[in-house]
Amino acid sequence: MKAAVIVKPGVIEVRDVPTPSPASGEVLLKVDMAALCGTDQRVLRGEKDVDVAIVGHELAGTVVSVGEGVTGVKAGERYAVQTVIGCNDCSMCVAGRQNLCENGFKAIGYAWNGAFAEYMTIPKAGVDQGCLIPLPDGMSDDLGTLIEPLSCCVNGMRYLPCETMKHVLILGAGIIGVLNGLVAKARGAGCVTLMDPMQKRLDMLERMELGIDHFVNNRVTDPLEWVKDHTGGRGVDGVVVAASVKQLASQGLKLLARGGHLSVFAGMSKQDPVEAMDLNRIHYLELNVHGANSSVRRDYIEARDLLQSGKVPGRKLVTHTFPLVDFNAAFAAQADPEVDSLKVLIQP
Ligand SMILES: [Zn+2]
Ligand SMILES: [Zn+2]
Repeated sequence: MKAAVIVKPGVIEVRDVPTPSPASGEVLLKVDMAALCGTDQRVLRGEKDVDVAIVGHELAGTVVSVGEGVTGVKAGERYAVQTVIGCNDCSMCVAGRQNLCENGFKAIGYAWNGAFAEYMTIPKAGVDQGCLIPLPDGMSDDLGTLIEPLSCCVNGMRYLPCETMKHVLILGAGIIGVLNGLVAKARGAGCVTLMDPMQKRLDMLERMELGIDHFVNNRVTDPLEWVKDHTGGRGVDGVVVAASVKQLASQGLKLLARGGHLSVFAGMSKQDPVEAMDLNRIHYLELNVHGANSSVRRDYIEARDLLQSGKVPGRKLVTHTFPLVDFNAAFAAQADPEVDSLKVLIQP
């Protein structure tokens, strides 16, 4: 089969490699469509180490065959794949929160070969845990690839009572910022604003007609002034930090109304993740601070249903599709700010 193989850090070649066959307990998927994400980009650039030579974890696939002992999964069925596999023994895993596994979770596409290939196997631990998320008939492969990133946003936004929020502000207008905003909107947030310093990106998003209310360039507009003007001075009810810039977290706190929620969705530089915050603001204003780290099965199901129902307009987010043989062109299109790309798909 063909696969995009990481030859060495930063160097990817599309090569012929042996097609895997499913061992006992495993499921072999034909990858129908896969999507590139920011984490993949870091791996492919050589900035993040993984155990495998083939990455890719946002996918829609069809079962080709199953290994001995697999029940309830049949050839021809279509699935998205939950990436996180926990120990399934600790208290968090037992509670269905494998993304918080006390023994550290492993992820498909990082600890096991991923989806930038014609075929991939789902390991027994993943099959047993329920990592295969059924795709409904009629759901396109394109939409199927969006379930994984959207599920992470569904998980993160779970901590925010969007239904009662008048105004949610997302700092960072990459795909993850957009998806967080769309989850807030789908769950009933009154007004959703995306802030980003890249005007070109904001213009592209505005043209997409996603149902997001405001696009603000926070390089030219002072966020504090803008929020004051647009909330009658009270602040926004929720802020999501969706870019790996730690100052956005302390800034976000200043933008919140009383009782507001700050979600630190983006991970920060491992070398320097510390940021000072005004704790009295948290104390006196009864602010809430949340984290968000990957997602679990219930988030995938909810994400799938949001896409399928159209409550999250997923199809509009796909800007490019490349065949697997042009993997490096896809990689470049996603990375280049001059290219108006949001979600870039790879078709094996
Ligand atoms: Zn991803
Ligand atoms: Zn565990």
